[in-house]
Amino acid sequence: MQNLEIIVEGQREAFREISRRLIKIGSEFHSRGWLLGTSGNLSAVVSRSPLLIAITASGIDKGNLTEDGILAIEGSGNIISGTGKPSSETPLHIAAIMARGAGSVIHTHSVWGTIISTRFEKAGGFRIEGYEMLKGLDNVSSHDHTEWIPVLPNSQNMPALSVHIEKLLAEREDLHCFMLAGHGLYVWGNTLDDAKRHAEAIEFLLEVYGRTLMAGGQF
Ligand SMILES: [Zn+2]
Repeated sequence: MQNLEIIVEGQREAFREISRRLIKIGSEFHSRGWLLGTSGNLSAVVSRSPLLIAITASGIDKGNLTEDGILAIEGSGNIISGTGKPSSETPLHIAAIMARGAGSVIHTHSVWGTIISTRFEKAGGFRIEGYEMLKGLDNVSSHDHTEWIPVLPNSQNMPALSVHIEKLLAEREDLHCFMLAGHGLYVWGNTLDDAKRHAEAIEFLLEVYGRTLMAGGQF
């Protein structure tokens, strides 16, 4: 990995350890069909002060990630270490980290996420309630819970979209995720394990929701 010497000594091993875990999750999620065609991106906070974030580089096959595919960036988005290009969606990761104090952000492009976010764009979102899998989300201890999943219009202007999302996440502390219409899902968590668990729980629920709707079921 190039330029790693720029990272201060105390962060070097933490960055490598987080990179190894991002590589493993990338491979797992790619095999589930959630990160195909170089889509999606994964990030985790290495240090808070100063803010240092490990994030997958743009255009990288998540099924064959290596440490060279992970960039170290500052809170401003500037690259500290790594040779790739930051994803255009980096501002959305930073928005979740800043607004929610997230330790990790995971963005997936699943088939069910694409279908459902398209279906509920006009409504601005949808509710999922009554499922045991909801207990996979932080601060949810019963299936008797209603989760609101906002769906925002997709955009190629990610800096502008990130301003809107940072405001939304600051206002709605109950949210665990948001979706971009016809695009995909963003989830976050206090730790990389929390974000991974949230991504798995929400993707599971999206598939349940989508399959039920296609079978003519109602919510
Ligand atoms: Zn995306």
